[in-house]
Amino acid sequence: TKKKDIINGFHCICFFECVDFVLESLKGARVLVTGASSGIGEQMAYHYARFGAQIVITARREKVLQQVAEKCLSLGAQKALHIAADMANESDPERVVDFALEKLGGLDYLVLNHIGPTTFGMWEGDVEHTRWLMKVNFFSYIQMAWRALPSLEQSKGSLVVVSSVLGKMTNPFTLPYSSTKFALSGFFGSLYHELAMKKSNVSISVCTLGLIDTDSAMDKVRGITKVPAYPATEAALNIIIAGATRQLDLYYPWFTQVITLIKDWSPSGGVTLDRSPVCRRAT
Ligand code: NDP
Repeated sequence: TKKKDIINGFHCICFFECVDFVLESLKGARVLVTGASSGIGEQMAYHYARFGAQIVITARREKVLQQVAEKCLSLGAQKALHIAADMANESDPERVVDFALEKLGGLDYLVLNHIGPTTFGMWEGDVEHTRWLMKVNFFSYIQMAWRALPSLEQSKGSLVVVSSVLGKMTNPFTLPYSSTKFALSGFFGSLYHELAMKKSNVSISVCTLGLIDTDSAMDKVRGITKVPAYPATEAALNIIIAGATRQLDLYYPWFTQVITLIKDWSPSGGVTLDRSPVCRRAT
């Protein structure tokens, strides 16, 4: 056992040294992070800043973005620029990518993370809201990815897509959101194959997250689920590592992968919510 521990320990050290090495390469890297005015996107901006990256951040609230950008500079970002945009607008996704390409002279990382606000509750037939959410959470992602691909190809860059366990398994109360995340899995999973067929230089990382303790998520699930929420700053760092190490899939926390693997074997389809009164009404 001792020998095995030593070998495992050695592998761990090698892994962490390798990650350290890759993260050091983020110094000066040209990064665009969406949805960076709050939550996981904001934490990613701060991590990239600490690694000395050149960052463009975007979201709708200009004043908040400005504060995040200032903090990024104080943390060590080589550049921190912001651009306000609403991803529901047809032309904004491309406008944001063009801004980043112009200001940074190209892109090494495109981190797609933003989501539009949505309700947590039973589906009441609001097709218009679902259509709008698809624009924000899905169509803007594919527009931005397509616009940035030539530059990422040149830089051997990475496309990082932040998704959810709700994009891999079905659950009540989040139908529009879940649909947008399933669409992302389908699109970027398939794009991965096409890029491989073309022997592309661009890596794709699809990040499947469980419950993370951002204000917006906590506001929705408070009193409804006992599923533990994991820290946004740690989720953010894991996403950055997945992109930097060109990992195809990230599952954070780790057991979200187990949940997605066993979902097809469980009679309930792997529903993770507890049996709170709200959930009982739905079953
Ligand atoms: P937040 O709600 O904290 O942040 C969402 C971000 O998107 C904000 O910066 C917001 O800024 C921006 N945004 C909202 N609407 C628009 C719009 N129309 N156009 C442009 N930007 C917009 O989300 P989280 O940090 O919790 O989630 C981040 C990612 O992680 C998402 O992809 C989410 O699906 C995923 N995830 C999160 C989980 C969690 O439990 N938190 C669990 C699983 C996945 P502004 O209002 O200024 O526009």
